[in-house]
Amino acid sequence: MEDRSSNEGSVLSSGEAGGTELLFQQIADSAPVLIWLSDEEGMCTWFNRPWLEFRGRAMEQELGVGWCEGVHPEDLERCLATYRSHFRRREPFQMEYRIRCHDGSFCWVLDRGQPRFGERGSFLGFIGSCTDITYSKRAEEALRESEKLAVVGRLAASIAHEINNPLEAVMNLLYIAAYSADEVTRVSLDAAQQELMRISQITAQTLQFRRQKSLPEPVRVRSLLQSVMGLYKGRFAQTGVDVVCEEIGDPVLVCYAGEIRQLMANFIGNALDAMPEGGGLRIRVRPATDWRDDSAGLRLTVADSGCGMNVETRRHVYDPFFTTKENTGTGLGLWVSAGIAEKHHGSISVRSSERPGASGTVFSVIFPERGASA
Ligand code: ADP
Ligand code: MG
Repeated sequence: MEDRSSNEGSVLSSGEAGGTELLFQQIADSAPVLIWLSDEEGMCTWFNRPWLEFRGRAMEQELGVGWCEGVHPEDLERCLATYRSHFRRREPFQMEYRIRCHDGSFCWVLDRGQPRFGERGSFLGFIGSCTDITYSKRAEEALRESEKLAVVGRLAASIAHEINNPLEAVMNLLYIAAYSADEVTRVSLDAAQQELMRISQITAQTLQFRRQKSLPEPVRVRSLLQSVMGLYKGRFAQTGVDVVCEEIGDPVLVCYAGEIRQLMANFIGNALDAMPEGGGLRIRVRPATDWRDDSAGLRLTVADSGCGMNVETRRHVYDPFFTTKENTGTGLGLWVSAGIAEKHHGSISVRSSERPGASGTVFSVIFPERGASA
């Protein structure tokens, strides 16, 4: 097998002390950092063994500007600009960029470059050392995302709060106006009131989601589902979706009602998004055995005959901000839903197919009856 990480060859440029070369190479090869050297022209002339192993490439491939092939296309221009400008001024630099590692994925590195000078002060090029900072970059990113989420949550709650008061006033005014209106106007006013009622329910839910009661309560799942169905009545009619709601028994779940409503609404909303030309939606609530300990549980299933999902989408559906709906999606619905299921000790699963003529998606959650109180 070819030893791709062989870094035999001259380390230092001619004119440097030959006896130190071997020692330098040994030290550089055993250091837990990726080291590179460049000459007076800026061309890379040597890489240590950890660099070659990290990259999974041979020395000849990396020499000169070969290493640039691995730099992430979005980072390359910035990276070269920093390198060139500091090189020209012979000043130390520090930069972060993504570079492809041996397994084909991109890793973040922090690269520190230092100019090298000979004994008589002649400029010899640069020496650089890189450390893998992928882990801390990911942690930073996760932190930023969670901050964004907190902002979104607060924003939603404050908007809902601001909307509530004028909304109530308008609804009262419409109610009064309906008294003195003729029959035709009254029909329109009634319709307007119905629509405002929907908005009112949405804002109430948003507020409830934020200010949840401190204790979960036993709730009839059937009534929860009916209130969610009420919210979507308009969209069901608009999209011509055929809805079948199957409730077997009248199960009670100990839960945070607002959150379970939100979870149901997210599943149904997604199903409708997947069926812009109409289709079938089947929602089922039925007692189930919790396979984890054979105790009584409850299964909620939302199945649609929509477009389905490919493997990539299925893998990421629960990630925050993952959406395939360019302008209309937030990518938060299923992430929030998975959190709600977890809080209620439920287990969420998805099956989906894109097969023409038989495409569709089934989301289901099994809750233990004792729900969030366990
Ligand atoms: P969003 O509402 O912004 O799309 P979600 O978290 O609700 O965010 O869903 C994430 C992604 O999962 C959606 O953009 C979509 O690609 C996919 N998805 C979710 N539910 C369905 C479904 N019933 N059918 C097809 N794709 C779905
Ligand atoms: Mg959604």
